[in-house]
Amino acid sequence: MSERHTSDTIYRLAVPVPLRRLFDYRAPGLSLPRGARVRVPFGSRELIGVVWQTTTEASVALDKLQSITEVVDFEPQISESVLQLAEFAASYYQYPLGEALTVTVPTAMRSGAQPKEATIAVWQITEEGAHVALDTLNRAPRQRQLLQRLQQQADGLIQAELQEEGFSTTLLRQFEKKRWAQKRALAPENAPVSYQSLASPVSLTPAQQAAVSQITQSQGFQCYVLAGVTGSGKTEVYMRLIDACLQKGQQALVLVPEIGLTPQTESRFRARFGEHVAVIHSGLSDKQRWQSWQAARTGEASVILGTRSALWASLKNPGLIVVDEEHDVSFKQQDGFRYHARDLAVRRAQIEYVPVVLGSATSSFETLRNVSLGRYQSLSLPERANDASMPAMRCLDIRNAVLDEGLSGTLIERISEHLQQDGQVLLFLNRRGFAPTLMCHSCGWLAECQRCEAHYTTHRQIRRLRCHHCGSERPIPVRCPHCKSDQLLSLGQGTERIEEALKRHFPQEKVARIDRDTTRGRDAMQRWSEAIKRGEYRLLVGTQMLAKGHDFPNVTLAALVDVDGAFFATDFRAPERMAQLITQVAGRAGRGSKAGEVVLQTRQPAHPLLNVLLGLGYDAYAKAELKERETHGLPPFQSITLMRAEAGKAEQAFALLQKAALHFRGSEIVAMGPVAAPAAKRQGRYRAQLWLEAAQRGPLQQALTSLLPELENWPEARRARWSVDIDPQEMV
Ligand code: ADP
Ligand code: ZN
Ligand code: ZN
Repeated sequence: MSERHTSDTIYRLAVPVPLRRLFDYRAPGLSLPRGARVRVPFGSRELIGVVWQTTTEASVALDKLQSITEVVDFEPQISESVLQLAEFAASYYQYPLGEALTVTVPTAMRSGAQPKEATIAVWQITEEGAHVALDTLNRAPRQRQLLQRLQQQADGLIQAELQEEGFSTTLLRQFEKKRWAQKRALAPENAPVSYQSLASPVSLTPAQQAAVSQITQSQGFQCYVLAGVTGSGKTEVYMRLIDACLQKGQQALVLVPEIGLTPQTESRFRARFGEHVAVIHSGLSDKQRWQSWQAARTGEASVILGTRSALWASLKNPGLIVVDEEHDVSFKQQDGFRYHARDLAVRRAQIEYVPVVLGSATSSFETLRNVSLGRYQSLSLPERANDASMPAMRCLDIRNAVLDEGLSGTLIERISEHLQQDGQVLLFLNRRGFAPTLMCHSCGWLAECQRCEAHYTTHRQIRRLRCHHCGSERPIPVRCPHCKSDQLLSLGQGTERIEEALKRHFPQEKVARIDRDTTRGRDAMQRWSEAIKRGEYRLLVGTQMLAKGHDFPNVTLAALVDVDGAFFATDFRAPERMAQLITQVAGRAGRGSKAGEVVLQTRQPAHPLLNVLLGLGYDAYAKAELKERETHGLPPFQSITLMRAEAGKAEQAFALLQKAALHFRGSEIVAMGPVAAPAAKRQGRYRAQLWLEAAQRGPLQQALTSLLPELENWPEARRARWSVDIDPQEMV
């Protein structure tokens, strides 16, 4: 029995250290709310901690208790709901709470900086202005309009909104001079709410209407799945829901996969909700993130649009959460705090007691399973919204076909046909660079990155070999370093190579190549997207980036150059991802008034995956694949966790995982491995993984919760870097 150490209030803090516990401090004479940041001594350092709870019984002897050195904020900067979410997530994903809190807030908050008191400029009518007769301004129509607006809104109008309506600052200053109106700086929470919904540009289809009414009528928490085919108008549904939310004075949180890749998403929201939108994503500066964050917390912004990390923005008065393209892997953080933003968004909606909408044309298997269990409610949009029909899809059997840089004669013909009909053509290949392999024709030597034991990719335009795992580069050799032969062959296809082939076949056309190499820098994607919409490019070739939600109405042919890779992948999710990708790429075709065509080049035309997918569609395919998963005891029918370890020597990585595996002996948890990771060596370090599975999540969670604090202290854990990945999305 531990000795009791009772005193006055003791503060139990979450401190950013990799330890799975809270730390006790005292703060004589102070009363601090949960969520407040404080500065504390920690070992030889000073850290910023967050007040988590209070207690009267310290975990250490009272005379050992240290005091808080400084209170950073007396008013918490994180809402109670987000604190609860963080607590849940830290425990679910087995991550130290203090570190979880640190990585989910803007950088400025970690250092203990104080937010600048944000104020909003508001214009209000004066006594004098209220008595000016409108008729006296008949010859100055703008002045008359402004006066009328101000007279009607006695509690004032936000300057930014007046400017958006076209009233200039000069005009406003004239009013100030005449003493008709005065400018005031108000705290965001005191600013008048003046949301006026814009008339919607379209009238909803019956299916859209049904979805909107169902969701707006719901009370409290409910998870809706908006299953709408590509081009069915999901975004329009979100915007109607958000509009309803804003009219009630509530806020909406909208999570999207990667804003940089789909710039039109942001512009569509801005066009509809203007100044009310705040965006949060990794392309922002620290200062901008901090501002958006504050705008969400104070209620100054009512539409918070962002990527994964926006999940953690505190909201003053939430009314709705939307996760668009919920199947997208980018919602799962792949390092450090490995949380899934979609799953946590559902949890957050529960905590906030608001509806959440998960939208996709290709729902994740987890989501489909939750629908079939009755946990989530599915609403479907089975048709395209603007009278466009779904494109025809077919396989192009390339066995024995003569290929020119991966393109079959039939495909070239189809491309030329679509160009003649004034359409745009999109070619998809999931590999950037020129070719994925450089091999010596004489001796078989392969250009490999030694640190990763992986092939170098040839990038011909920059004349370099590049490792896509660690980023290391070197010049393309002229001769084989092994046998000195000059017969070096580039094997396989990359986007650069397809681009060259297209230029050769269609010399009069400009080719837009969209991949990570051509979209560096801010707004690069935006510029591509605009140029494509203007029709400057009629041939588009690209990777995944080109598969994401773009709306290019003139694309009539979408071709997948090579779909065979997924059939041989080791990752059990590969077929699901491939089906999603095929459906999403297909979804780029025929979105406008012209009919679309989709072709898939394959050497496996009889493959059941392709046949079910092309013949019956994604949902039927998913149903069949889910049966397979059930038979093999894979997620979502079982819970899995991957423990990973990496070290300078393979034995060190294995030793840690072997010892961990023993912990699960005799329990209902099955531990398989450790085995070498699919990417067995990266950047000079060897990698191993241990697969843990259980029919129920609970026991697996408990076993990990008891194991990890122990494991942290093992000598083996000091010789290897390790991590735990709950519900892993990628097996690498
Ligand atoms: P999704 O997000 O489901 O792929 P979008 O919201 O991008 O679909 O809509 C596809 C296209 O259809 C867009 O150009 C959009 O403006 C248009 N659209 C959406 N809803 C309607 C509607 N009710 N009537 C006419 N056009 C619509
Ligand atoms: Zn050689
Ligand atoms: Zn490498």
